[in-house]
Amino acid sequence: MKNIFDVVILGGGIIGSSIAYHLSKMGRKVVIIEKEQLACQASSAAAGMLATQAEMEQDGPLLQLALKSQAMFHLLSSELLEYTGMDIEFVNKGMLKVAETEEIASDLKKQVTYQRNWDPAITWLDFKELHEMEVSLSPSIAGAMFLPNDGHVHSEKLSKAFTQAAVYFGAEIREHTEAISFIYENDQVNGVKTTKGVIHSNQIVIAAGAWSAQLMQESGFKINMYPIKGECFSVKPNKTLINTTIFSDKRCYLVPKQNGEIYIGATMIEHTFDQTVTPLGIASLIQRATQLIPELNEASWERVWSGIRPQTADGMPYIGEHPNWKGLYVAAGHFRNGILLSPITGKLVAELLTGTLLDQTLLSAFHLERHQETIV
Ligand SMILES: Cc1cc2nc3c(=O)[nH]c(=O)nc-3n(C[C@H](O)[C@H](O)[C@H](O)COP(=O)(O)OP(=O)(O)OC[C@H]3O[C@@H](n4cnc5c(N)ncnc54)[C@H](O)[C@@H]3O)c2cc1C
Repeated sequence: MKNIFDVVILGGGIIGSSIAYHLSKMGRKVVIIEKEQLACQASSAAAGMLATQAEMEQDGPLLQLALKSQAMFHLLSSELLEYTGMDIEFVNKGMLKVAETEEIASDLKKQVTYQRNWDPAITWLDFKELHEMEVSLSPSIAGAMFLPNDGHVHSEKLSKAFTQAAVYFGAEIREHTEAISFIYENDQVNGVKTTKGVIHSNQIVIAAGAWSAQLMQESGFKINMYPIKGECFSVKPNKTLINTTIFSDKRCYLVPKQNGEIYIGATMIEHTFDQTVTPLGIASLIQRATQLIPELNEASWERVWSGIRPQTADGMPYIGEHPNWKGLYVAAGHFRNGILLSPITGKLVAELLTGTLLDQTLLSAFHLERHQETIV
């Protein structure tokens, strides 16, 4: 087996796969090293929301990154269909951030005014407008912020479409292969030791999601990252209950997928890699979801699952080169928004590695050394 590549990507989740796609398309010889199977972790657990406006309420580098990424989905879905035949189920019907009390309604109305600064399509829907739009919503909901540009995709299909498209452009995939440590020459990385032998390259990208901190530790540098488990469940009603994604202020969302399932998520359990789905977690989601849509109680039960989100101390991903080793890069820590941020992360990392990144400012907030002062 040939073991020399232009770029080795460690992790076959959505971030590694998007980077592989963009680099392969630029003609680089790429291999993805995946410990288990492609998209087997957070990238298949995600509900697939492209929730720029719902999740990012303040202007800043993360919002700017998300806006750029969100704008890529239209073209991306047709490109990936062309290269792989895979439909990523991009749905662009918007999101409703609902207000269950007058107090929340008043906060959301202020938020509408503020967020219209970067998305003028955002509007406030009063009781009548909201309930005409989504008839199954509980009458207890007073109104909602309508975010027409926050769509969703099928996250596992998007992740796998990125990988298949990378393969179309010549990338290699090695599953059931774990990256263990790095090989250096002077101040330059030039290989990675894996459970199946050494792979040589002068450019290596750590894109191992919540497990990236362990690989960084191996390289002698700590990043401030920790896992947050999220549990979800899904149901299939026998009629369409909702057309838009319903996003509650209390961190419960309902995403109507193309196959008729509604994905309902997600709990937030910090500092654990344990992926057990608990009755307590699911019960809390059922309680919240049926308060929003009472008819969900009659829907047919589908499944439960969980995943580990990669969180960082400031909630922003790490995207950039290792401070000590040339050629070693990280793209990880996308927390609740890795699906949304996958296209732009892949594009910018590919440009960084090929020396074609024109606008350095987009990545400057995500550099790896920003938490050094807080690390013991
Ligand atoms: C319940 C839940 C709901 C979510 N909903 C959304 C949503 O609606 N919208 C959104 O944008 N985001 C959402 N997210 C967040 C999103 O899923 C993540 O941000 C994103 O999937 C992270 O992708 P990743 O490729 O960095 O990590 P992962 O998908 O976790 O992939 C990392 C990969 O690296 C592999 N790996 C680890 N260590 C090694 C090693 N040493 N060697 C080789 N391979 C290794 C792992 O096996 C894994 O396959 C959600 C997450 C969860 C858990």
